[in-house]
Formats: sequence, structure tokens, C-alpha cells
Amino acid sequence: MAIVVQKYGGSSLGTTEKIQNVTERIIEEKEKGQQVVVVVSAMGDATNHLVQSARDISLHPDARDMDLLISTGEQVTSSLMSLALKERGADAISMTGWQAGIQTEESFGNAAISSIDLTRIHQHLQKGKIVVVAGFQGCTSSGEICTLGRGGSDTTAAALAAELKAIRCDIFTDVDGVYTADPRVMKNARKLPSMNYEGLLNLAKMGAKVIHPRAVQHAKEHQVPLVVRSSFNKEEGTSIHHHHSVRDDSSAIGLTFEEGLSRVRLYSSDGEPLKSSALLQLLKKEEVTIKGNQVEADGSFTVILRNEDLYQTLSCFNRNKEKIGIGRMNHSTGLAAAHLVFIDEQSADQFKSRLSMPTELTNTDLWPFSSRPEVYSVLVDEKQAGRTCQILHDSCVESCLDLQAHIN
Ligand code: ADP
Ligand code: ASP
Ligand code: MG
Repeated sequence: MAIVVQKYGGSSLGTTEKIQNVTERIIEEKEKGQQVVVVVSAMGDATNHLVQSARDISLHPDARDMDLLISTGEQVTSSLMSLALKERGADAISMTGWQAGIQTEESFGNAAISSIDLTRIHQHLQKGKIVVVAGFQGCTSSGEICTLGRGGSDTTAAALAAELKAIRCDIFTDVDGVYTADPRVMKNARKLPSMNYEGLLNLAKMGAKVIHPRAVQHAKEHQVPLVVRSSFNKEEGTSIHHHHSVRDDSSAIGLTFEEGLSRVRLYSSDGEPLKSSALLQLLKKEEVTIKGNQVEADGSFTVILRNEDLYQTLSCFNRNKEKIGIGRMNHSTGLAAAHLVFIDEQSADQFKSRLSMPTELTNTDLWPFSSRPEVYSVLVDEKQAGRTCQILHDSCVESCLDLQAHIN
């Protein structure tokens, strides 16, 4: 019998009424003759509230305690969902990640799934039950509960779908598909009716919150058809398949952006170019996430990072000034980045080589920098970010109809 995995995000499960509402879709799928596994996130903002409770008590909460705490959000929803399904006459069983056989590496707060033992899920499916699994969590071989990183219920769903060889993994959320930019922020964002795994992976890695990058990675590796769609209406959503791209144009497929960034610029003490690899290595050791870097025309070196990592970065460079040959150093904060995301590195290169900035942006202070090969990133003053992103989106992201024509 074919298996379908359905994942419902926290935004679709904010109240008990919303939980009751989605049971209809689950039962509908079961009545089509499929075996159904449902993965649920915590209700609404429950995870944020749990994080806040911990911070009310401790400024630096212990990572193991945190995971035990925040994994409870999904357990609440899985049991409520199972109760709601039973109330509607369906046979269901709720499970924690551990009960569902999800084993993770030991990395509190951001664990990867290492293996899944499907024995118990299969036993329940064979008995005709709808299996409701708490997303976002697993258990290490030594019995520790680990969570999968914020937004990680998507990963649970895609990994289960891959392991179960499901015919489809539906990601139900509060928007009706993947758009060329966050539709809640960007006017004119267009829904993409279909796309390939690589495109969605690139968007997710650059922060399009609609799906977690690890979920796309699992689906891609095991060729699980994914559908991102609304839990509130029956619109078709976005289908993600494997397609060999035959594109030869250089339009971006989407735009993402992030605020709260800082820039540090370093000049060498002796006129010799600074060794960028040594500088990046230093920051890697400090576990600072580098958002981008650039060797400037004058030989100085720039790194982009999150505001919260600025102090640590400056003190690390200060400590190693002499060893690395750093002379002058300056920094600025209050910056944002806009990322034009391409289907692959080749399309991004084509775009970069033909790039001409939209005329509306010629007076704007834009600073291109390297983030990932398949992305064109610019840094901009946070105050101008909204306008800049809108102009970049409208002029550089192609129409969804063009995209569909290329992919199909
Ligand atoms: P869930 O609770 O279902 O996991 P999330 O809030 O994690 O939902 O993700 C859905 C949100 O992702 C949408 O409400 C939307 O604001 C945001 N989003 C960001 N980028 C995109 C995009 N390119 N396409 C669609 N939604 C996006
Ligand atoms: N509840 C978790 C979070 O808020 C996981 C998820 O929503 O996917 O990050
Ligand atoms: Mg999410």
C-alpha cells in the first residue's frame, strides 16, 4: 500500500480548533486508500514561548536542558492531533521522535538525523492506524533527546518520507506554495507552480523560511516528490521534483534577505595582501558564522557577519593582529543583505557577467559580496533594505510562467 507523509507546521496548528480542522485532510488522504504518516510542529509560537521561559530563568541555558524543554512542544501537538483524529472516528496513534525510531547525532539544538528504525511505524500502519509523529526531535544512541534546528519538523517529515519510500511528502503551511520571495513581505512575489530540488535547496539555504534546507536535502537524495501547499485552502501548491535543468538564461529564481548584519574591513600592516584563508580559519575556530567575504580592489579584506558575532570577531582579530599582519580595522553595523538566488552556479555567473543594475538603484549604496556560488548578494543599509529588495526582485527575478516553461 502506498504511503503518504503529511507535515503540518505550527502556523497551521495554533489552536485546538485548527488542529481539529486539519483532521479532515488527513482522513481524506487515508480514505483514498493510502497509509498516512502525519508529522506535526509545536502549536503556533509554543517553541518561542518555551525558549523565552528558559531565558527568564537562565541567561545561558544548558543545551541539553533546552532540547528536553523545546521538544515538548511537538509532543503536545502529536497527542492532541491523535485525540482529534480519534474523535472523528479514525484510528490513530501519537509518537515522540524517539518512539518513531528517529536517531540523531549528539548535537543539541541542531542535530542531524543519523538513522530511522521504522519497525514501530510499520507495525501501526499495518494495523490501519494513522501514525502521528512529533517533528523536530530524535534521540541519540546514548538516549539523549536532541532537536533538529529551528524549523526542523520539515526535516522529520522529509526524512521519514524518504525512509518509508513514500509516494509524496506534503508540507502544509500558512502560504499556498513557494514564492519568488516571502509573499508576506514582498509585493509582486509570484508563486512557483513547480521547481526542482536544487532551486528550492538554494532558496532554503539562503533563508527562505518556507522549508528547512535539510528537508530538501533528504527529499532530493531519495527523490521524494515534495509538495508545499496551504493547510487553509485547496490550492495546488508548489510541486518539487527532480528535473535536469535545461535553462540557458540568467534570471534569478528568487530573492531572500536578512537583516542584523555587520561588516568588518581589515587592512594589512605592511602593504602585503592579507591572507584571507588564515582570517577565515580564525573565525571558523571561534565558531563565528561568516555570511560573506570579499577581497577588495585595494587589497583590504571584508567579512560579513551577524551583529551578535561582531564583538567576538573584533576581539579575535585584535588578539591575532600581529600574527596575521592586520593593521587598520574598521566596522559598520545596521546592514542588511539581499540575495538573488539562482538555480545553479552557471546561471549566477551568467547573471554576474551581464549585470547591469536597475536604474532606480544607481543612487543606492550597494555593496556586492560573495556568499555562495549560486547566489548574487548585495549588502545595503538596513533602512534602504525594503526598497532595494523590492526593486531587485521586480527587475531580476523572472516570471513564474517563464520558469515553468523552462522546467517542463
Ligand atoms: P510552518 O509553521 O508551516 O513551518 P513557517 O513560518 O516556518 O511555517 O514557514 C512559512 C512562512 O515562510 C510563510 O508564512 C512565509 O512568510 C515564509 N516565507 C519566506 N520565504 C518564502 C518563500 N519564498 N515562499 C513562501 N513563503 C516564504
Ligand atoms: N517548533 C519548532 C520551531 O519552532 C520546529 C518547527 O516548527 O518545525 O522551530
Ligand atoms: Mg517552518
